[in-house]
Amino acid sequence: MPVLPVLSKKFEITVPVLIAGGGACGLTAALAARDAGVDVLILEKDMIPRGTTSMSQGTMCAAGTQAQRDAGIEDSADQFFEDVMTKVHGETDPDLVRVVTREAAPTIDWLGGTHGIPFSVDTSWKGLGHSVQRLHAPPERTGEALMGRLLQAVERSGADLMTDAHLTDAYADAGGRVVGVRIERPDGSHEDIGCNALILATCGFANNPDMIAEFIPDMKGAHVFTWENSLGSGIRLGIDLGGSVADMTAFQGYGALAYPQELLFNYNYVIDGGVLVNKNGERFSDEMADVSGQGVKVMQQPDHVAYMIYDETLHARYEHLHETRQALEVGAVKFAASVTELSSALGIPSDALTKTLRDLSASKAGYQDDFWGRVFSDAHDLKAPYYGIQVTGAIYHTQGGLEVNENAQVKRGDGSLLPNVFAGGGAARGMSGPRCSGYIPAAGLCMAMTLGRLAGQSAARLK
Ligand SMILES: Cc1cc2nc3c(=O)[nH]c(=O)nc-3n(C[C@H](O)[C@H](O)[C@H](O)COP(=O)(O)OP(=O)(O)OC[C@H]3O[C@@H](n4cnc5c(N)ncnc54)[C@H](O)[C@@H]3O)c2cc1C
Repeated sequence: MPVLPVLSKKFEITVPVLIAGGGACGLTAALAARDAGVDVLILEKDMIPRGTTSMSQGTMCAAGTQAQRDAGIEDSADQFFEDVMTKVHGETDPDLVRVVTREAAPTIDWLGGTHGIPFSVDTSWKGLGHSVQRLHAPPERTGEALMGRLLQAVERSGADLMTDAHLTDAYADAGGRVVGVRIERPDGSHEDIGCNALILATCGFANNPDMIAEFIPDMKGAHVFTWENSLGSGIRLGIDLGGSVADMTAFQGYGALAYPQELLFNYNYVIDGGVLVNKNGERFSDEMADVSGQGVKVMQQPDHVAYMIYDETLHARYEHLHETRQALEVGAVKFAASVTELSSALGIPSDALTKTLRDLSASKAGYQDDFWGRVFSDAHDLKAPYYGIQVTGAIYHTQGGLEVNENAQVKRGDGSLLPNVFAGGGAARGMSGPRCSGYIPAAGLCMAMTLGRLAGQSAARLK
């Protein structure tokens, strides 16, 4: 994305805070800037803002929230920090993690208290790196609903939203100060808008095969399930302005994408005792070791697929979930009265699946250690009738991006700051370290909304 020289450029309109991208990060940034009494314009490439956020399950991790206290859950920013640092084996920017783990709870409480977006704790998610239940979601538990609620709050706040507005270039002086941007409209025409501060909230680069090949060569050609505009445009602009990037090899993967229907399927079944087997009817991992890295493990199986197996008890527990209902409606979930029936419905060998489920029961009952090292503390023992669904692995969202300070302001490689450029969400470096295995559940929206709030507050101070 080119950086255009300022020269004697005059803008017909100049706004104090300009935000590129109308997903969770951009909308949260807009609310924070409006709360500081500053005028805001959000530029969104699509006709209707949806973004990766709308594809998500709408859950964000945070520690020490009012919602946790209401649910009787004791938690703290320090514990959250420790959990993240353990997950990434210390390989991340501790200052960034400190800020995000401290500011996530005030972000959730503020969105609820000031902007009427109620979050409660999703107690069905446990483990996977979080030592206590700290995933928060709006009542509908979907990203679509979260987007709807954020958009309503933005409208109430008086922030301006310009859709069909694709940020293509920035005007900046020699010191990297952005004085305005150029946008492209769907008919190919261009408009220039001046600004005092720019917030890059354009998400990551999961849908940009060239950037994947450049930064995550091991995942070149891998299955991607993400928002089409996750092309890395904000990251590229930040780099061109002199910003530095880190952890560009990191991404959030997932190993439970219903296939070939391409629908996100719930991991709750696995958390509560379900398993993943491959086409040979064999397990191939500790399914609870790493929900993000599980995506790569599934991609490595024959035909790049696996089968999630669970039973009637777990089905009854979670059939109300939006994603499960979708999968049931399109016939992706197979029901079977016995292991033999399940094997033939899924097209996997019956003998092998029978042995796998027998071993699983024995491990859950404590008669033998699990071969893959999974600890089944309170996992439900699967019993006929069974359910099974074919799934694949995919890259959801990249985790590397622009390095930011405690105010979400973009850093240069030498540690100095770009004068008036901020970043958050997928456009900023996450807290997952350099690998896909460092992603702790619900960190994507945590980075988006927490850094969004900090970016909005900080950008407003530059007015
Ligand atoms: C299937 C799936 C499930 C997920 N589930 C969860 C979950 O439950 N919890 C969690 O924490 N994370 C989850 N994630 C990750 C999470 O969705 C992202 O981390 C988060 O949505 C990123 O927010 P964002 O605002 O940075 O990006 P987005 O929501 O993608 O918003 C960016 C916006 O910028 C726009 N844009 C892009 N380029 C330009 C441009 N040049 N000019 C103007 N506009 C532009 C895009 O159209 C988009 O609307 C999931 C991801 C996927 C794919």
